[in-house]
Amino acid sequence: MRLVASAYSIAQKAGMIVRRVIAEGDLGIVEKTCATDLQTKADRLAQMSICSSLARKFPKLTIIGEELVVWVDPLDGTKEYTEGLLDNVTVLIGIAYEGKAIAGVINQPYYNYEAGPDAVLGRTIWGVLGLGAFGFQLKEVPAGKHIITTTRSHSNKLVTDCVTAMNPDAVLRVGGAGNKIIQLIEGKASAYVFASPGCKKWDTCAPEVILHAVGGKLTDIHGNVLQYHKDVKHMNSAGVLATLRNYDYYASRVPESIKNALVP
Ligand code: AMP
Ligand code: MG
Ligand code: MG
Repeated sequence: MRLVASAYSIAQKAGMIVRRVIAEGDLGIVEKTCATDLQTKADRLAQMSICSSLARKFPKLTIIGEELVVWVDPLDGTKEYTEGLLDNVTVLIGIAYEGKAIAGVINQPYYNYEAGPDAVLGRTIWGVLGLGAFGFQLKEVPAGKHIITTTRSHSNKLVTDCVTAMNPDAVLRVGGAGNKIIQLIEGKASAYVFASPGCKKWDTCAPEVILHAVGGKLTDIHGNVLQYHKDVKHMNSAGVLATLRNYDYYASRVPESIKNALVP
């Protein structure tokens, strides 16, 4: 709980950095692997802030006893951040014990940004398995509605084929893994479907805890639970499938051809 409490204030501080970089106007964009895989000054400053604060407070953090690992995404939804879709952006701090994601903090720096100049910007959602998730109002999509949320900026044929196979009533294309989990727990989407590599362990660790803490489920596209021990492969090579309710409905509709194309 001491680590979760620190992660809460550390994520808030990172959220302030994310807002400050936009306000100052120089994003300092660098392409990592391609034009849709970006890093900005906000990613770099938030990463440094989170890691130095954690290291100062918990000098033996990486391994305490058996294995405690913290997965940090200083800025999730960087592509959308560079395009001004600010409410897509989150700061993610996930905590794993013996390979299992057990606690998570999501700061959403631009929550409320369309509410006018007097609105207080930002919020922090946090959760611990077995305890619950806090900082938001749990809401479900109306029964029988299949609203799929998926990537906005990293799409391909597998991604779109899998979304179509869900027989959706509506499809939302938004940035950020953290943002999509928030849509699931706030009744805006019923399933997060991403049938592609691209998403990393630091994208899913904190969000999956928040979802699991309220009875949801996040797996790869085959239904495998994700592992978070320190030596695990960073890439979620077999994509992401997450729902608050009715997981089996969506899992049963993933085409075999798509499963065969995505090796865990
Ligand atoms: P998205 O839903 O596209 O916002 O992706 C969720 C997270 O996974 C973001 O942090 C992305 O940067 C990352 N991601 C997904 N697909 C890719 C990709 N093809 N290349 C790089 N990063 C990706
Ligand atoms: Mg990310
Ligand atoms: Mg990131």
